[in-house]
Amino acid sequence: MLVTGASSGIGEHTARLFAASGALVALGARRTDRIEIIVAEIRAAGGRAYGVDLDVTDEKIIASAFDHAEAATGTPITVVVNNAGIATAESALTMSHAAWKGVFETNLAGAFLVAQAFARRRVAAGAGGAIVNVASIVGMRPIGNLAAYAAAKAGMVALTASLATEWARYGIRVNTLAPGYIETDLNAAFFRTSAGKALLARIPQRRLGHVSDLDGALLLLASKESQYMTASTVVVDGGLLMGSL
Ligand code: NDP
Repeated sequence: MLVTGASSGIGEHTARLFAASGALVALGARRTDRIEIIVAEIRAAGGRAYGVDLDVTDEKIIASAFDHAEAATGTPITVVVNNAGIATAESALTMSHAAWKGVFETNLAGAFLVAQAFARRRVAAGAGGAIVNVASIVGMRPIGNLAAYAAAKAGMVALTASLATEWARYGIRVNTLAPGYIETDLNAAFFRTSAGKALLARIPQRRLGHVSDLDGALLLLASKESQYMTASTVVVDGGLLMGSL
């Protein structure tokens, strides 16, 4: 399997989780120094993992990441967790077009290009597979200063449904995991601010999620236990999305 954005946070944890469950895991990201350390730790713990240089905004690098991963192990990638993402917290009044495009290129176009490269290989092999797209509840309910991120994540839910519909005939399942607030590098600074603390108080379970809170949903969506699930969105958010008004 391939986990994109595996150099930190949710992606790093996902790679460790699947390796501990016996999967052969390719970890992709731009910070290959961090990937090397994580791969070494997974191997030291008895897992099977290897790193690939991956920038999801670059089609050629995506293609070579798949080639490299499959050649290195002689095993086709049958599951992709499309996790790579960035968030730019900024007023919609001041956000530049370049910043908007950066968020869309990574979060939405990047997920599409990785899914496309994966599906082309699975279709050519005459075999199916599973894609888990990591979106966010921010794509389903608004919050200020995250317009580009929210729009890209909402797009990811629509992308998931479109690809699931188009690729069901090839046995490729595509589902969305929509986390709530999970404590990672992406948001650690925000949750130290007063706005962050106020938001925390609105989560029905009154706590941030831990990366391990996503384990059940990740393992489900990547496995045959969910073989009749496709185009689904699984929300893991401590109740925030449906919280009291
Ligand atoms: P991190 O910042 O810890 O991780 C983001 C990962 O994405 C890094 O490994 C980074 O690797 C990778 N990445 C960024 N740009 C690229 C790129 N162009 N090509 C390849 N990899 C890239 O954040 P999180 O772990 O929190 O976020 C992971 C995903 O989960 C994101 O999609 C995020 O939107 C989503 N999410 C997070 C939530 C949270 O509360 N934390 C809530 C809901 C969704 P590198 O820089 O080395 O390339």
